[in-house]
Amino acid sequence: MSRIVVGHLYPDYLNIYADRGNIAVLERRAAWRGHRLEVRDVSVGDDLVPGEHDLLYIGGGQDREQALIAPDLAAKGEAARAAVDGGAALLAVCGGYQLMGRSYLDGSGERLPGVGLFPLETVAGSRRLIGDVLLECELEPGERRALAGFENHAGRTLLDESGTPLGRVVAGFGNDGESGFEGCRIGNAVGTYLHGPLLPRNPWLADWLLERALSRRGEGDVMLEPLPDELEHEAHEVAARRARERGGRR
Ligand code: GLN
Repeated sequence: MSRIVVGHLYPDYLNIYADRGNIAVLERRAAWRGHRLEVRDVSVGDDLVPGEHDLLYIGGGQDREQALIAPDLAAKGEAARAAVDGGAALLAVCGGYQLMGRSYLDGSGERLPGVGLFPLETVAGSRRLIGDVLLECELEPGERRALAGFENHAGRTLLDESGTPLGRVVAGFGNDGESGFEGCRIGNAVGTYLHGPLLPRNPWLADWLLERALSRRGEGDVMLEPLPDELEHEAHEVAARRARERGGRR
């Protein structure tokens, strides 16, 4: 039995679209394998101490909430980058994903500073990109996985040439509706627009994050025991089907 320490960034601001549900999934899937998730909130004015957390989570929020926390988060940027460099896993969703990049030029024309973990910039467009999404991801060489979710963002995210996307868009808009890519991945850190509810529908990603977090705990290369996941696969299939029916990259 191992303890996994999670830093939940700004749960009081960035908490739309099932962010607590994602944490609940991590907690249950860890507990079913005999591990205990300890969730520590890290919000405005709190210190982010590199080395304290095995996994960091930052959820989605609208421009207003993002503007409220962006300067505080940018001030924690060095610590966040050091945490990921030190092997911590990270999941950043939607508004949190945008702020893990270099900057977000929001809908009112204000440039919000980012953490600079992911090599990307985001600029708000006039039309929101909304709907079911299906991605093809390969986080481990040779292991292709489907990720199904829902996106709702005005931001268009442009990845630098050097950036690695989380996945290829099979159906939906993705980062900018044009590149055919979605999200970003660096080491054990994943950023994505897919939310509501991402991890309940994609338990493989929850396990990938938990395995990375356990490895950083010093457990070596951890492979979690598979779970039956019948309901989870059904939920995944419903979301994937809806995205496929929507069709293509748009
Ligand atoms: N405010 C951002 C956008 O609309 C993020 C939205 C969100 O987190 N759902 O692009």
